[in-house]
Amino acid sequence: MSVRAVTGPAPVHPGVGGAIESLFASQRRSAVENRAKFTLKARLAMLSRLKATMKRRENDIIGALYADFRKPESEVRLTELFPVYQEISHARRHLRSWLRPHRVHGSLGMFGTAAEVRYQAKGVCLIISPWNYPVNLSLGPLVSALAAGNTAIIKPSELTPATSALIRDIVAETFPRDLVAVCEGDAQVSQTLLDLPFDHIFFTGSPQVGKIVMAAAAKHLTSVTLELGGKSPTIIDSTANIEHAARKIVWGKFSNNGQTCIAPDHIYVARNKAKALVEALRNEIRRVYGQSDSQQKSGADYCRIVNPRHFERLCALIDDASARGATILEGGVRDPTQKYISPTLIGDTTPQMAISQEEIFGPVLPIIEFDDVNDVIEEINSGPKPLALYVFSKEREFADLIVENTSSGGVCINHNVVHFLHPNLPFGGANNSGIGSAHGFYGFKSFSHERAILRDKFSVLRLLFPPYTPSVKNMINLTVRILG
Ligand code: NAD
Repeated sequence: MSVRAVTGPAPVHPGVGGAIESLFASQRRSAVENRAKFTLKARLAMLSRLKATMKRRENDIIGALYADFRKPESEVRLTELFPVYQEISHARRHLRSWLRPHRVHGSLGMFGTAAEVRYQAKGVCLIISPWNYPVNLSLGPLVSALAAGNTAIIKPSELTPATSALIRDIVAETFPRDLVAVCEGDAQVSQTLLDLPFDHIFFTGSPQVGKIVMAAAAKHLTSVTLELGGKSPTIIDSTANIEHAARKIVWGKFSNNGQTCIAPDHIYVARNKAKALVEALRNEIRRVYGQSDSQQKSGADYCRIVNPRHFERLCALIDDASARGATILEGGVRDPTQKYISPTLIGDTTPQMAISQEEIFGPVLPIIEFDDVNDVIEEINSGPKPLALYVFSKEREFADLIVENTSSGGVCINHNVVHFLHPNLPFGGANNSGIGSAHGFYGFKSFSHERAILRDKFSVLRLLFPPYTPSVKNMINLTVRILG
């Protein structure tokens, strides 16, 4: 029976557990047998094959993402295809140097030895991905897994069934199943996979499920990379260029309908700039998405909430805030039949409201005024560490003050979201927003075992071996005193 038979959120077929186990066993055999055969040349060829299939299926990818949540073609090109293509090109360009043994210097006590670190494949890897950037966050990590010489099983999200089925087909067209395979299905399929002793798990999703993944990994002492979420704040001080900030924030927040892990969740703005900011954001929303409600709703550049559950969750956040005294400053228009919420700005929120506590993950942007930035720093430090943090200011000292007094996965100064696209920056969170990193060398490293290799040439360490005669004791004492 084929694991491919498992599609969508339907209950798992009783035979599927066995199919997944035999798939895992075949990948394990392949990982062991091919360890030395996955040469640089072989890996480069795999990456090229993946890119070629994706290129050939570009129109299908655009169609599938439209079917799943009306994602506009240009957004698919920029946020789903480009990051994976870039990841492939970057890995192809640098893999030779990443794979080269990295020589390391020793201490005096290591005199007479040579040492190096080699990045070697971990083995069989599991990639569990979310629905919000289904291609980018399934195939992007796959690039790192293959560059590092692993085999991989991908479990895409059940919430974007058209795209997940397409990812399955793309993978099946490109790789034998004992090298890369896709297991479609819901949380039950995920849990069946998590019972297996993978060599590495790369999970992208919510912090709640991240904890389940880490607990399952602990049973086999499997290493994990967790790319999670949370509330990413934006801080705008009184020196910031408000028009520029608004332009970037509207793009960062409302692309993908706000369903972006690193979208600005909420804004803290210096009180004397709050009015100008709201005005600038409103103008920018209308310039980009349409002047009237109906133009915004019929516009082709604004995708939809992924499913009714998330639509209702977002409506409940807005309703809870409104009932407790928050003000809708822009938007707030809804249509459940289309899972549509217009780009929405909201003011007068308080920390007690659900919208201030939960990750928003939709097109709703609270704007909070501040007088003293130290209060903002204190508020950020009182919650879980964010995945991203954004500062808009012309004062370098202001940005430095925030960066030095807070923690987050990543930071952009005078921009938002774009650090994801930088090939030489590690992408990841901190604690509640994630563990480990993705992208470029850092992604390759996550999927690699850093193997320490020491070669003895003429080391004098034997002088410290037992029996512990008085002269050996003296030598040990001397070593500890001088080198310790
Ligand atoms: P999710 O955690 O609900 O699901 C992610 C994956 O886990 C899916 O494949 C799903 O089938 C599986 N899953 C769900 N419940 C499970 C369970 N009980 N046991 C095992 N597997 C289970 O996340 P989502 O709704 O798909 O995505 C949204 C979340 O992901 C947000 O919190 C967002 O911030 C985060 N995210 C993070 C990044 C990042 O790079 N850090 C990127 C995108 C999304």
